[in-house]
Amino acid sequence: MSAQIEQILEVINGINTHRRGNLSLYAISRSRQKATREVALHRKITTQSVLDKHIRKLRPHIKNVGEFDGCLLSYLTDGSTELRDILLRHKVDEFDSERIFNAFSSVSPNAVDVADPPDRVKSTTNRIIRDTSVARRVKVIYGYRCQLCGQYLENQHGWHYAEAHHLKPLGHGGPDTDSNVLCVCPIHHVILDYGGVRLESRDFTLLRHDVSAEFIDYHNTNVFKYNISLMRTS
Ligand SMILES: [Zn+2]
Repeated sequence: MSAQIEQILEVINGINTHRRGNLSLYAISRSRQKATREVALHRKITTQSVLDKHIRKLRPHIKNVGEFDGCLLSYLTDGSTELRDILLRHKVDEFDSERIFNAFSSVSPNAVDVADPPDRVKSTTNRIIRDTSVARRVKVIYGYRCQLCGQYLENQHGWHYAEAHHLKPLGHGGPDTDSNVLCVCPIHHVILDYGGVRLESRDFTLLRHDVSAEFIDYHNTNVFKYNISLMRTS
């Protein structure tokens, strides 16, 4: 197992403890500084060698601690797997892979909606029940229906589930604003994250809020790669 991955994961875990549910880039960055100091103290090494040195090794995927914070924020708000996948690319052995998957599953993203039954929240540590207010507002506009296919998930008690997708990822300087967010089903969220669909306003099944042309353009230019279709056996 590599010390680099191990210490980065310790810092991620520390950030999640310190941020106390606060989801802003500032909160993540302050928590990261605290967590880094703790890991350094515990391991009797300098704070410089804990994160700065390790993050330099993640180039070109992550250039600096600011980008690291942004990627972690994207994970916590959107469930973006970018940071996890970058760490996996830099793994040394299979122990690293296992540690990375475990670390990311214990630091859960805020993908759970406030309508989630409260008893489930009590029994689950590290599970945050809030969406960012932007994500929640956009989901409410669409009644939790996917803007691309119109489908939604519902249980027998009327609980609805949808996901918020940031067209320009927070980790790449995209803002957490309505105009950068789409309400989508989990399948379209994956398709969007993998760049599997080109977006044109006329292709939206539902379009009830002002989605910025700039961010749609960002998606089409920087994220879209090739079409991904959901297939079914007949
Ligand atoms: Zn959909």
